[in-house]
Parts: sequence; C-alpha cells; structure tokens
Amino acid sequence: MSKDKIENVVIIGSGPAGWTAAIYAARAQLDPLVFEGAPSREMIPGGQLMFTTEVENYPGFAEGVDGQTLMMTMRSQAERFDTRIVTEDIVEVDASQRPFRLRSSEGKEVRARTVIVATGARANWLGLENEERLAQTGGGVSACAVCDGALPAFREQVLAVVGGGDSAMEEATYLTKFAREVVIIHRRDAFRASPIMAQRALDDPKIRVEWNTEVTEVLGDDFVTGVRLRDTQTGAERELEVGGLFLAIGHTPNTGFLQGVVELDETGYVLTPTPWRTATSVKGIFAAGDVMDSYYRQAVTAAGTGCMAALEAERYLAHGTEADRGVEVPAEPVATSGNR
Ligand code: NAP
Repeated sequence: MSKDKIENVVIIGSGPAGWTAAIYAARAQLDPLVFEGAPSREMIPGGQLMFTTEVENYPGFAEGVDGQTLMMTMRSQAERFDTRIVTEDIVEVDASQRPFRLRSSEGKEVRARTVIVATGARANWLGLENEERLAQTGGGVSACAVCDGALPAFREQVLAVVGGGDSAMEEATYLTKFAREVVIIHRRDAFRASPIMAQRALDDPKIRVEWNTEVTEVLGDDFVTGVRLRDTQTGAERELEVGGLFLAIGHTPNTGFLQGVVELDETGYVLTPTPWRTATSVKGIFAAGDVMDSYYRQAVTAAGTGCMAALEAERYLAHGTEADRGVEVPAEPVATSGNR
C-alpha cells in the first residue's frame, strides 16, 4: 500500500460481505485492499459471527461450523488470492473528490476508485455484566435466535426473548420449534411489532408474555440459569428460571463514519436505491451485508451482497467511470475475468 497508489477497490469491513467482496474482487484482478477493522471491546475483525458459537445454516457445512472458523476460513480464502489486509478502521471517507480519499484510525491516507462498505451492524445489548460475558463464552445468551436457537443446549428449555418489535416476535416464534416454552419479556404493555407478527406470537400456545417487565440481571456461572426481572410499574423484583436468553432489542448499523457521505435511512442503514443493486447514492461507493440490510441479516445473504458489490465495482471500473464522466454502467452483465 504505497502513498501514491490509487486503489481500484477498498473494502471496509471483514464479515461475510467484506470477505466475499474481497474474494471476487481479487479473482477479478482488482488487487483489493481490505480494512478489516481494529479490535475493540464492541467489535472485532470478522464481525458478529465471531461472537456466534455454532453456525448450522451456512450452506456447505453439513455438520455446522463455528463462527470464528467460518470467518477465518473466508479471510484465508481472500488472502489466497493476494488480498491485502489492514487491521484498522476507516474513520473518514471524502467522496467530494475522485479518487475518493479515506483515512484510517491510525492516520493512513488511501485513495480509491471504488469503495465497498461492509461494516455490518451490531446487535444492541442491555449492557448487563453477566449478559456480555455469557454471550461471549457460549453460555446461553445470544442476540440471534436463527443463528443459535437450534443448538442442543436450548432444546426443551424455557427460553426468554427480550424485546417487543418484529425481531422479538420472529425470534420467539422461531424458538418454539425447540423450546418447551418461550417467554417474551417486554418493558411496556404493548408491542411495537407489526400487528400480524404480534398476533402470530400471541396466538402461539408455547409463547407467553411478561408485560411491563425488564431484565435487571442475568443469572448463571457457566451457562444462564435465570434472569432477575423488575416490574416497570411497581418496581417489584423477582427471578425467572430460563435455559436461554435471546436479546431482540434492535441493531445499530456501523455507519457513523458515513454520515453526510452517502444517503442513510432514518435508522442509519446505507440506502441502495436500485432494487437488486448494491450501488449507494454516490457513484463508485457500494454497500453490502448488514450495513445495508435490516431485513434478512444472515451470513449467507451478506456473502451474497458482497459478491454483488464486487461485481458491480468491477463493472463500474470497466465501464462507468474515468473520474465518473457520466458513462452509465451497462444493465447487462459483461464478461469478467474468470470469477465464476
Ligand atoms: P425495533 O423495532 O427497534 O424493536 C426493538 C424492541 O426492543 C422494542 O420493542 C423496544 O422497546 C425494545 N428495546 C429497545 N431497547 C431496549 C432496552 N434497552 N431494554 C428493553 N427493551 C428494549 O427492532 P427490531 O424488532 O429488530 O426491528 C427492526 C426493523 O426490522 C423494524 O423495522 C422491523 O419491522 C424490521 N423487521 C422485520 C421483520 C419481518 O418483517 N419479518 C423481522 C425483523 C425485523 P419499545 O417498544 O418499548 O421501544
């Protein structure tokens, strides 16, 4: 990475979207540069899957794979095609000039013809001490029922889901496949979820709701055994025995550094205005994975959009640019350099 070099494509983020984009871009001989992120208390390179124990729904792994192995394998695959990797965050993108100028957390300046944003989103947590510890050690606390719910440890257990939005309804309904009982713990007396999803959960005989209730403590040493609850109206406290705790209190996309650079929706997700495209409001900047997807949020969909972003960047570089002189990218796929 020399100071004078203009990069073809800089990929920001190192979850399934980022690594898939890197694999495709590298095989298309675009010599991608990945900023995989600096480890911090909240995020580590590899993204949310690094916090997931067993991944059983990523195709190609009949016996399942742990999240860290999956991410390290994707990283190695990108490296195999000579992807260059910097273990830093990008903290600033200047899209007012071409090539784009990016600045890293340690002050590196990079110029790039295209940028793929794949910085993901982070699940929101309650912020309780034992919650974080047990989530990181596979101790029965998770922010993704679809990722973890089918694990043997949760079978025939009483499982708690915290939240009152569509995610909580979806996660609770999903968990009834495995659980003896699912208890939704919601801090108010009405759900935020869409009526149809709320009704589906309320009609399920395996689901019951603890209204006006919040979790104040997560109990258990190696594995969660219960939660301490507080009635939000009376303040009364009690304990509930559970064999698993799932948080569904929303996600926050990692787009702080993109404020005012590309268009974001009201909750901070990057907007990709054209259906089935990853192009953002700024030509030459593409977005892939959870940072542009509040709906599916799966590893496999993130990988899929990473692939799409790399192909779009490649076509943009071939046809759409020369300092963005207004040449449109053809709608039809063009022959690419052997990346299928
Ligand atoms: P959300 O709609 O923002 O709901 C978050 C829920 O968590 C709210 O009920 C909120 O309570 C609660 N909450 C937030 N912070 C909390 C805290 N500190 N302690 C306790 N409770 C807390 O998030 P979401 O359910 O993840 O949905 C996000 C978006 O994705 C929505 O637009 C949703 O429609 C969409 N989505 C759609 C589907 C689907 O259609 N299949 C599935 C999932 C998500 P309050 O209600 O009191 O604020």
